[in-house]
Amino acid sequence: MNTVTKKSTKKIAGEYDNSLDNLVEKDAVDGKSGRLQRPEKVDEKSRVMWEYVIPVVVLHLLIPVAFLPYFFSWWGLLFLPIGNYIFTSMGIGAGYHRLLTHRGFTCPRWLEYTLTTLGVCSFQDSPARWVLVHRVHHQHSDHRPDPHTPKVSCYWAHMGWLFVDNRDLSTAAAYDKYARDVIRDPYYFWLQRGINWVLVYAYHALVIVAIGALLGWLWTGTLAGTLQTTGQFAVWGVIMRTVYTWHVTWGINSFSHMWGYRNYQTREDSRNNWLFALLTNGEGWHNNHHADPRSAQHGHRWWEVDLTFVTLVIFEKLGLVKDLVRPNQSALNRKSAA
Ligand SMILES: [Zn+2]
Ligand SMILES: [Zn+2]
Repeated sequence: MNTVTKKSTKKIAGEYDNSLDNLVEKDAVDGKSGRLQRPEKVDEKSRVMWEYVIPVVVLHLLIPVAFLPYFFSWWGLLFLPIGNYIFTSMGIGAGYHRLLTHRGFTCPRWLEYTLTTLGVCSFQDSPARWVLVHRVHHQHSDHRPDPHTPKVSCYWAHMGWLFVDNRDLSTAAAYDKYARDVIRDPYYFWLQRGINWVLVYAYHALVIVAIGALLGWLWTGTLAGTLQTTGQFAVWGVIMRTVYTWHVTWGINSFSHMWGYRNYQTREDSRNNWLFALLTNGEGWHNNHHADPRSAQHGHRWWEVDLTFVTLVIFEKLGLVKDLVRPNQSALNRKSAA
């Protein structure tokens, strides 16, 4: 990446950080419930996002299948923490969030594409769309334009916002304003077109199922054993892992803006939620993150474990990651809640 590109991507990433300015936003509150109204362009004219509703409903309906004796195995449970680390912490946490959205480090293009492709395999939308939504969240956190604040409702912040089109976020102008640096990359542009990013998710599912078939044959040597292991890999390695990582990631938008402690006085209700920090390998130190969004280190105190950042430090020591942004201590001292 040349210097000009690096500077401009940093500028775009920092442009939507509202933690330092004194922006005062007027919020519309529902008269009856006292809750914040949903974003302006979410109304009766908004279409239902069937492309989210159908997979989310179908995969949740399949959860009981995973506990049938034929599909359940104790080793299958290992797909949850291991898959969460590989696909979601490395893909979403390091790739989509700390790298693409906030430009908290630089790395060779092959490593960037590896991380972001792992993110695609978490079925949390394309990189450009994810970055757009998250930058709007940082710019308007817990105010009406925020795509997913729990001030509307906990359900809305957790998953409801995914199911109805926010027309402010679907325009070419929105992509140009919030994700220009991402969409101009040919790979991310390709992922954005049609259902390409969904196809990448489908291909990764086929690879996991194929590995299950191969191992099943090697372990059992029988057709019945091969079929059962293939099914177990499909149910636990793809379906349950995806549902699990959806909820731990969505929990940052909902629970980490509701419950937990605050190290810093920020302009929104972000919290350090230790449970979701552990479940996401670091993303749950969300008050720290809102106080210093560019920092790739979300755990600021010694007990705030941030395995995603530890991995990035290892990559840095191996020479794979550069310009790894640490917390800006002098700026944070001014926001300290203590
Ligand atoms: Zn937030
Ligand atoms: Zn962020």
